[in-house]
Amino acid sequence: MKSMKEKLEALKAQALEELAAVTSLDALKDLRVKYLGKKGPMTEILRGMGKLPAEERPKIGQIVNEIKAELEGKINEATAMLEKKALADKLANEQVDITLPGRKPKTGHLHPVTLTMREIKKIFMRMGFDVCDGPEIEDVYHNFTALNLPPDHPALDMQDSFYITENYLLRTQTSGVQARTLESKEPNTPIRMICPGTVYRCDYDATHSPMFHQVEGLVVDKNISLADLKGTLELFCKQMFGEDVKVRLRPSYFPFTEPSVEVDVSCPICHAKGGGCHVCKDSGWLEILGAGVVHPNVLRMSGYDPEKMTGFAFGLGVERIAMLKYGIDDLRLFFENDQRFISQFK
Ligand SMILES: [Zn+2]
Repeated sequence: MKSMKEKLEALKAQALEELAAVTSLDALKDLRVKYLGKKGPMTEILRGMGKLPAEERPKIGQIVNEIKAELEGKINEATAMLEKKALADKLANEQVDITLPGRKPKTGHLHPVTLTMREIKKIFMRMGFDVCDGPEIEDVYHNFTALNLPPDHPALDMQDSFYITENYLLRTQTSGVQARTLESKEPNTPIRMICPGTVYRCDYDATHSPMFHQVEGLVVDKNISLADLKGTLELFCKQMFGEDVKVRLRPSYFPFTEPSVEVDVSCPICHAKGGGCHVCKDSGWLEILGAGVVHPNVLRMSGYDPEKMTGFAFGLGVERIAMLKYGIDDLRLFFENDQRFISQFK
């Protein structure tokens, strides 16, 4: 019995010696298997107990269990210590380098059409114009008839429109707002307004989109003439495209104005020199809007007296202005939401 006890004490001493030398969690695991595992020496001794005299069995069994428990406790202690150390090392090595520059969050910015729209509004507001709004679903009367376009007028064929019912459509121009503003005033009240907004037509190519933005303007007062129209648009163009820009009027035809004009600006890209300029196609001039002196019928329909009051009206495409201002050659780019294009306008 003594020799068996000595054998066990030696085994324990050896295990403790090996434990003291262990530096890694893997080695600890191996040590646990070696001494406490199913094939370890302790298990072997317990299995061999049958050969011992009956009175010795409980004593040896008790010693084995005590040694097992002690080793188990020491190995657990060592495991906890090594795990703590591993965590401390990991934290020390993975410190955040606070001197690195941070990642900037991506902030949005305004769409080029919105930027242009805001600039147009700002220029006209500085000249004392009111900004008016109206419905995008318009009735035929305000979209066409009140603008001196009777239902059988050939101009209705020129604009293929999105009809919702026979009498309602997505407005093809913001002019309906002008008619509604005229109607809402006491007859012969002076008016100075612009109506910016979305309009819809059945068109789709490099210079047309089924949805686009328009700003129309209307001035009605005593003694308003074509000269006032030219002066106003000249001031607008200079503020929009630069002081050296020239404006020219060409005779045209619209049913709601008489006389009617197309307004050109000298090309801001080549400074009206032409010579291989792809924007103005060598002409030196760019058409930017249509305008004219308000037709007496339009005033009359809204209760105004064309003998006392006169006015001018104009309509411009916001995308067209943005294309000229930023040198963009395809209108569809505005609505494709390609970040490579859009992010250039930050
Ligand atoms: Zn040019």
